[in-house]
Amino acid sequence: MKKSILVFILCGLFSCKSGYLDSKQSPVVIDIAQEKDDNAFVNLKNYSSSFVYDMKYATPDNFLKESVYPCQECFLRVKTIKSLLEANAAFLAKGYRIKLYDCYRPKAIQKKMWKIVPDANFVANPKKGSIHNKGGAVDITLVDSLGVELDMGTTFDYFGAEASHNYQNLSEQVLANRKLLKEIMLEHHFKSFDSEWWHYNLVNSGTDKVSNLKWKCVP
Ligand SMILES: [Zn+2]
Repeated sequence: MKKSILVFILCGLFSCKSGYLDSKQSPVVIDIAQEKDDNAFVNLKNYSSSFVYDMKYATPDNFLKESVYPCQECFLRVKTIKSLLEANAAFLAKGYRIKLYDCYRPKAIQKKMWKIVPDANFVANPKKGSIHNKGGAVDITLVDSLGVELDMGTTFDYFGAEASHNYQNLSEQVLANRKLLKEIMLEHHFKSFDSEWWHYNLVNSGTDKVSNLKWKCVP
């Protein structure tokens, strides 16, 4: 039996939803205010060209040592993008911009991460789910006008005390850079996460549903 026929029959029996997000890029930058469903998952690149992307899980340059995303995309809920656009505008006014390491993360990927690092200080237990699985979290840093990353004291996904906001034994410059990132994010409806300087959750996103929607790559 053809796979498509089997899927059709199974979906008829179990009423599955389409499991993929649309990665197709809009030819124009869309005004996010046009999006009426705050909870919809959309692709950030369609709403701004002012972000820098370095989606670590679409490369082997991460703690898993393998690429777990099919391609580099940053999907988030509309309400998360609204706040992120405002925060980025505030950074741009100061000569910086946001560089993204991770955005929405399907639940299946969360399970894979937990298997490798089953430590709730660094990876959310998939039973509970991460805010990344809910489309309300971003892993970010800042770059200057030349695209150079600001020194935040550790690399992204550094699993140690030095990555914590509470760790103060860092240079004045590193502390100032982290403070800049944190202050603007907090001013724009995000919350910081103590053990990871790069992780920010949209306020009140904890009650949103975990998702396992994946995205297809557009050549
Ligand atoms: Zn994160």
